[in-house]
Parts: sequence; structure tokens; C-alpha cells
Amino acid sequence: MIGTKERKMSTNTTTGGLFGNAALGGVRLGAASTKPEGASTPAAEQGEQTVHNVIIVGAGPAGYTAAIYAARANLSPVLFASSVSPGGALMNTTEVENFPGFIEGIQGPELMTNIGAQAERFGTDIRYQDVEKLDLTGEVKKVILADGSVHLAKTVILSTGSEYRKLGVEGEDRLSGYGVSWCATCDGFFFKEKDIAVVGGGDSALEEALFLTTFARKVYIIHRRDSFRASDIMQKRAFENPKIEVLWDSEVSAIDGDSNLEKVTLKNTKDGSERELPLNGLFIAIGSDPRVDMVKDQLTLSEQGTIEVQGRSSKTSVPGVFAAGDVIDPTYRQAIIAAGSGAVAALDAQHYIENM
Ligand code: NAP
Repeated sequence: MIGTKERKMSTNTTTGGLFGNAALGGVRLGAASTKPEGASTPAAEQGEQTVHNVIIVGAGPAGYTAAIYAARANLSPVLFASSVSPGGALMNTTEVENFPGFIEGIQGPELMTNIGAQAERFGTDIRYQDVEKLDLTGEVKKVILADGSVHLAKTVILSTGSEYRKLGVEGEDRLSGYGVSWCATCDGFFFKEKDIAVVGGGDSALEEALFLTTFARKVYIIHRRDSFRASDIMQKRAFENPKIEVLWDSEVSAIDGDSNLEKVTLKNTKDGSERELPLNGLFIAIGSDPRVDMVKDQLTLSEQGTIEVQGRSSKTSVPGVFAAGDVIDPTYRQAIIAAGSGAVAALDAQHYIENM
């Protein structure tokens, strides 16, 4: 459990890094054929003239699973994994216990390495380079790397993930996985009969706090204001739960512990006074941000800032562009769900190519 030196983590997905280079598969552009407009720019000349069937951007569970499906459909996908952190958030976890198929659990990095190797086994070209820009207009999409080279594809699958917001206070990164968590569903189990706190005043924070009462002895909700923004029904449930105590007008200003979380410092947002609160666990639920910077001006986004997709599909507002994983998911944010949506994206891309 968290609370011992052994770090155990969850499959909450902060998937995908950003991205890389291209080759393999696809259709060679003939001299007088479908050479896309603008492909003769200096940047384009540095890249390849192959039009790939599928370029996948982001190497978390969604991207890798999309690659497995696309590769098995003989689409010779190219997957741009981050040059710095391929594999997404699970690369930073240790034991993953809730990904189906692993009775005794599996280490996060091993899981991601395996899924990546599975994608490569069927012919995925994984490239550890960073994508900087996308041009999604036109039938041939352009993926532009940090080195300026341009890579072309009939379809693009975006699986760039999301990032939980951080408090940005001392001790937060160091004790992440040692008592500090961003996922109650994943890690709540480790806090049986412990004293824990949730930070935030939205639906996520209250939902996490309510869920955590099934394990914990006591659950504090630390909120920076004197009212919640969460829905009335969630507030009612939280107020009625005898294990929950709300600490209003409070900000976490420091997170302390030797090898595991021991206490936090709370600062009163009205009078500036400070006090310490001993804790075994701290769950941070102050929202998350999908990684949409590269596409926010090209694709329709949802109210929550995720890439909008049509119904249960992965189709974005631009034909030939599909999205999967946390970048389309404001709600669940689990590795297994991201993986499933990666499969959907590959099937949608395959169908799109067949009908081109
Ligand atoms: P959210 O609604 O944006 O709430 C974030 C909370 O964190 C707010 O209370 C905010 O405080 C606080 N916060 C933000 N930055 C902070 C910081 N640096 N330090 C301390 N506190 C900070 O995010 P969410 O709760 O993740 O919900 C996201 C969306 O999903 C919402 O639309 C929500 O309704 C929905 N959702 C629905 C359900 C459900 O229906 N069951 C469950 C979960 C989420 P302030 O209030 O002071 O701004």
C-alpha cells in the first residue's frame, strides 16, 4: 500500500507524450499524382513524400492500441511517441492492478513496453520524435516535427492524452505515489482505515471523496473557497456522509513526509493563517487539461476542452482525423478505456481509408 516504501499506482491515464517522424507503408506519391498543395515548401522537402495510411500521435494506451489494430489491418501505421516520455503516465507508475488480464498486477512501464512491442510486432513504425504542428486541412494531412520535417498521411489518430492539474507546491512531485495520488478509483484501496484528504471543490473532488469513504477512516475535503462548484446532489451526498469533513477556505501550501506522506500545511485563504494536518493520503482533484494545443484551432472541442467526437465513434470535426483516449474523455480517464477507444479509432480510420 501507499504508506510503505513500495510505491503502488494506478492506471489513471495521463497518456501520451508528444510525438515524432514517419515512414513505412502507405502510398508513394507519383510525380504528377496527389502531391499535396504546399508540400513543396522547404519544410516539406526535409520530410518524406510517402503518404502513410495512418499516423498516430501519442504513445499511451490509446495510441499503442490504435497501432495494434491498424497494423493488423495492414495499414502500416507510423506512431509518433514522445522523444522524452513515450508510454504516457503509466511509465511513471509501479504496480498496476486494474488492467484486465494480469492476475497479480503488472508494473506500469512493463505494461506499456509490452503494448508497444505488440504494436511493433505487427509492423508499427514507432518513432521517438516530437510533433510540433499539424495541418489537418485537405485530404492529405501534414504532421510537422520539431526538426521542421513534414510527414504525410491519409488519416491521423490523435491520442495525446491529458494531464491532471497539479497544485504546484513543495513535496507534491516527490511524494507522488507515496501517499499523493490523482486517482481515487485506482489508489483508494490502499487507504483502508487511514486518514486522507481530497483537494478541490468540483464534482470530481466530491465524487472521489465519497468513493474514498468506503475505505478510509476519515476523509477531509480541502477547498480554497467557502462554497463548492460541484452539483447540488453531490454536495448533498458529501454533507450527509459522516466520514467527510470539509475544510473551507483552505489551500495546501506544502506536502511533507520522509519516504511517505505524513502531513500537509494548510493556509487559510481569508486570514492567511497556517496549520498542519496529519494525513496518510492526499488526492488531488482540481481538474485536468486535455492536450489539445496543436489542434484547438483546427478541430471542434467540447465544453470541457476535449476533442469532440461524433457519438460513440472517434470521428472528429475534420474528415480523416480521429481521436482516442483521454484527449476525448472528460469523465473516466482510465487506461483500459483509453485502450478501447484506441481500437475504435483504428477501426474508424480503416473504414475511412476503404471508402476514400
Ligand atoms: P472542475 O469542475 O473544474 O473543479 C475543479 C475544482 O478544483 C474547483 O473547485 C476549483 O476551485 C479547484 N481548483 C482548481 N485549481 C485549483 C488549485 N490550484 N488549488 C486548489 N483548488 C483548485 O473540475 P472537475 O471536478 O474535475 O470536473 C470537471 C468536469 O467534469 C465538470 O464539468 C464536472 O461537472 C464534470 N464531472 C461530473 C461528474 C459527475 O457528474 N458525476 C463527476 C466528475 C466530473 P474553484 O471552485 O475555487 O474554482
